[in-house]
Amino acid sequence: MDAQDVFQDMPLISPTISPSKAISINGNGIQGHKLERDQLPETLPSVECVARARIPTTQGPEIFLHLYSNNVDNKEHLAIVFGEDIRSKSLFKRRPGETQHDRMTRGAYVGKLRPGRDIADRDDVLGIELKFDEDGNMVNETQLKEPVLVRIHSECYTGETAWSARCDCGEQFDEAGRLMGENGHGCIVYLRQEGRGIGLGEKLKAYNLQDLGADTVQANLMLRHPADKRSFSLATAILLDLGLVEIQLLTNNPDKIVAVEGKNRSVKVVKRIPMIPLAWQQENAGIKSKEVEGYLRTKVEKMGHLLTTPDV
Ligand SMILES: [Zn+2]
Repeated sequence: MDAQDVFQDMPLISPTISPSKAISINGNGIQGHKLERDQLPETLPSVECVARARIPTTQGPEIFLHLYSNNVDNKEHLAIVFGEDIRSKSLFKRRPGETQHDRMTRGAYVGKLRPGRDIADRDDVLGIELKFDEDGNMVNETQLKEPVLVRIHSECYTGETAWSARCDCGEQFDEAGRLMGENGHGCIVYLRQEGRGIGLGEKLKAYNLQDLGADTVQANLMLRHPADKRSFSLATAILLDLGLVEIQLLTNNPDKIVAVEGKNRSVKVVKRIPMIPLAWQQENAGIKSKEVEGYLRTKVEKMGHLLTTPDV
């Protein structure tokens, strides 16, 4: 009996989700990983950028960090934007009674802040001025020469902060940032959905089940979570707020393309850019661990990711 059979016979733990929402496994692996457009919600969540700030980075390029609120959860989802000329409609919209100083404080300024500056809507040094309609909506259109590079990234505390070699989230995040820095424009939508949406506590339990022999999909299913519980409609709404309608998406996950485009294709992925693990590209680069190998293999074999695993 191999590990696959053992884990199919083991009982599911903690009835936290209705079985109809869980994805079933059979002898061939996962069923129904392919996301259909008509499974997506009809309407997008509404999002509002509440603050934005320039962040000089240790890697060289400056980024503009955008913090969003929304009407579906109370988490602080983010957009990491490369390029000052990619601007949020909701952030820049004029609010009744606010001063130019209020606007600069919440990040609704054009160009660059410097000591003594007193107008948010115009940067005299750089010669840029924003225009608004009578409802206070910014009317400037950003002219970009090509569809912007976009990465939809789900928070991974272990991979980004605790040096985990169980997954390649940290590496993918760094690589996406590097490509956008080189390009000059880009956006990483950073969603607060840890552990494919099950939360950090449940993810840690899944890791223990993996150490007992389960793969990443089996471990989630044993905890009665779907293999992937994430939703990307917030990302779609955030991209639209930033005016990013046609994008080049950095991903290996075909379901993510369908999900981010949304039911009505309000965002269009005009090109997919593959994210090939660095360890598969070069001898002495990337993450080396048996855990990450299993993690990537499961993505390819059970979750339909568009990667070819290297021969070993
Ligand atoms: Zn991760």
